Amino acid sequence: MPKDILLEKLANLAVKIGANVQKDQIVVVNAPTEAQEIARKVTKHAYEAGAKRVIVNWRDDITNRYSLEYETLETLQDIPQFSIDKMRYFVNNGACVISIVSPIPGANKGVDSNKIQVAGIASSKALNFYREHMMGNKSQWTIIAASNPVWAKKVFPDMDETKATEALWNAIFHASRVNEETDSIEEWNKHNKQLINHNKILNDYQFDSLHFTNSLGTDLSIKLVENHVWSGGQEKTTTGVVFNPNIPTEENFTMPHKFGVNGKVVATKPLDYQGNLIEDFWLEFKDGKVVNFDAKKERSTLKNLLEFDEGSSYLGEVALIGYNSPISQANILFFNTLFDENASCHLAFGRAYPMNIKGGTGMEIKELEKYGYNNSMSHSDFMFGSKDMNIVGITKEGEKIQIFKGGNFVI
Ligand code: ZN
Ligand code: ZN
Repeated sequence: MPKDILLEKLANLAVKIGANVQKDQIVVVNAPTEAQEIARKVTKHAYEAGAKRVIVNWRDDITNRYSLEYETLETLQDIPQFSIDKMRYFVNNGACVISIVSPIPGANKGVDSNKIQVAGIASSKALNFYREHMMGNKSQWTIIAASNPVWAKKVFPDMDETKATEALWNAIFHASRVNEETDSIEEWNKHNKQLINHNKILNDYQFDSLHFTNSLGTDLSIKLVENHVWSGGQEKTTTGVVFNPNIPTEENFTMPHKFGVNGKVVATKPLDYQGNLIEDFWLEFKDGKVVNFDAKKERSTLKNLLEFDEGSSYLGEVALIGYNSPISQANILFFNTLFDENASCHLAFGRAYPMNIKGGTGMEIKELEKYGYNNSMSHSDFMFGSKDMNIVGITKEGEKIQIFKGGNFVI
């Protein structure tokens, strides 16, 4: 088991920095049964921070699998009213949410994928009001992770279960800037300051485009949308409470122009898509669209990803992460976006984030598209950062500003 003090620190971080629980607020803790120990600690810390009431939503991937397996399509689509009412209560009472992820890879293996899809759609439709509320930052929310033996064995296949679980815990603590020596809250305050500072510098420049080059053969020009906003790190609710949606987080990200991407990009980490690992791949873009690509492994999976829908062969996100960040240094493939997308500079095929345009969260899709917003039902991040990544920003006046040198920020 991981050291108690580290679990305490992570729980405290989730409450104070992640959700930033306010006095007399209701706190929802979404917890998988694998994460019992940390969920209990989060609950205690939330009360200590002044929560009026803490409601823990336990979820179990195994019993969830049984419901998918045995319930009819009709039952799966019929979302009980009490489930909806419960979420309504959270929204109406301004509850904040702390979600703990601890995935069991392969838990739904062999289950009819149509049933999974249909159940997923029914639930997202019924609970859309809740999602919109949270994604619109009407209240604070955060995500942290907890190790479990199944996930750990996938990340560290050569270790026995106990060692692997411990190793994954250590990787999670390290990535989340939790250790015995330092004050994690202070570390996060410092870290947030740096992320916000980079957002501010990049926002002030309002670069017309970014040019990425490295020795692997990446030579890519990305035009950014007009009035783009760099985000990352701390966010603010509509009522003015700051919070950190992800622990860990390392990225500063914004919106590429859908039709403004040209050149070649070479991926530097494998991409896990629908359970298949695409390895050693590169892509070529012309006016935003992927026109050529190859992969040493799972080329056909990459093809499926690109052909998912119209928008999935265009980009929706460009994110900058220094080579010296702790997740990058750990050099571990977590098979989980919360970690993997924070390991390296990345791009995402598919849907862009409206918040990356000034006033974008209040715009209709049609209006966003006028700016160069890419719409898609998918959003898949892939890593292309490297130790020697060079990034130059080109201003609207044609001035060149060095942003990254030797894999790290120089502004
Ligand atoms: Zn990202
Ligand atoms: Zn992304």
